[in-house]
Amino acid sequence: MKSMDRTGQKLVSLRDAQNALAEGANRLLVCENAVVTPSARDFLAQHNITLVIGGKGNATAPAAQKAPTAAAYGNGAQPSRSASNAKLFYTPEAEVIKKEICAIGRKLWMRQFVDGNGGNISYRIGPNEVICTPTLVSKYDLTPEDLSLVDLEGNQIAGTKPRTSEIFLHLEIFKAQPEAKACVHCHPPHATAYAITGRVPPNLVIPEFEVFVGKVAISPYETPGTSAFAQTVLPYVKDHNTVLLANHGIICWADTVTHAEWYAEVLETYCWTLLIASQLGAPISHISEQKGSDLLAIKKRLGLPDVRFDTSNMKECQLSDLEVSSPIALTPGASECKPGGPTEADLEALVKSVTDAVMGALGTK
Ligand SMILES: [Zn+2]
Repeated sequence: MKSMDRTGQKLVSLRDAQNALAEGANRLLVCENAVVTPSARDFLAQHNITLVIGGKGNATAPAAQKAPTAAAYGNGAQPSRSASNAKLFYTPEAEVIKKEICAIGRKLWMRQFVDGNGGNISYRIGPNEVICTPTLVSKYDLTPEDLSLVDLEGNQIAGTKPRTSEIFLHLEIFKAQPEAKACVHCHPPHATAYAITGRVPPNLVIPEFEVFVGKVAISPYETPGTSAFAQTVLPYVKDHNTVLLANHGIICWADTVTHAEWYAEVLETYCWTLLIASQLGAPISHISEQKGSDLLAIKKRLGLPDVRFDTSNMKECQLSDLEVSSPIALTPGASECKPGGPTEADLEALVKSVTDAVMGALGTK
């Protein structure tokens, strides 16, 4: 075991890491308060050189496992609470995931789902490790070298570019929904049009949407990048793989990055189609509830989440949303049952929706 001593330095750079390799060292000793640059950390992890924080005579201290300080990245994140494994970032599996993330980033940009440096993508590669896109890079231009590895608290543990500031949104989903392995956040215009009006699209219009997305939730607005924003999705991520973010965009989770992007495509196309249909001057016809149950059965077989699988919800609620006033936009939760039976407002809404449906059928609306 050979060590290189850099405890006399306040800043440890890539050159120090390279020198350690050149001298055949497998440990680099640095002082407690040293700032180790992200590229130095990266290089050390890549070449299996252990960073020993705490200096001479303390080479085996657990400090060696410390995550980089937030100061090293300037991202204001808190130090990690549990051990994380930076080496996961350089495994063959990670290389495949990085390429997939870049390909999906390009897809998002080509489909106009992201603009400027907007949108972000992540993949949970370990119990406490998530690969994610960096901040301030267009999703069209992404390369594997741009990506970062963070722990579940948002501390960057590998990668040279600072991670996206919206990672906390993804991390809340990973922590709350163990089935989620990948998240895609983007701003597709037609779905975002719903998000800025506080409305969700109705159900039972197009089968693919029922099976892959189903009921869409909408989370309240909060300032992007804050933990309050990240937590807005928590009530929905168990039963919804796609959430509209009020006045912002959408987030989708799935077992793979590719599938999470599919859900964004399915939702965006659905919202777009509904908006086009609304201009044709004819009422939208709905799939029957009987046929809708068939679609839900398919969905269950595919292992996809849906709030309608909860039989207590199903019992009194309609599968469809025919009972609401607008054929293309619903008030969130409008068709969901509340305990204790229908309220006066519910009955009023029902009377209004029946009237509207009749008027719509007569072509007078
Ligand atoms: Zn965004």
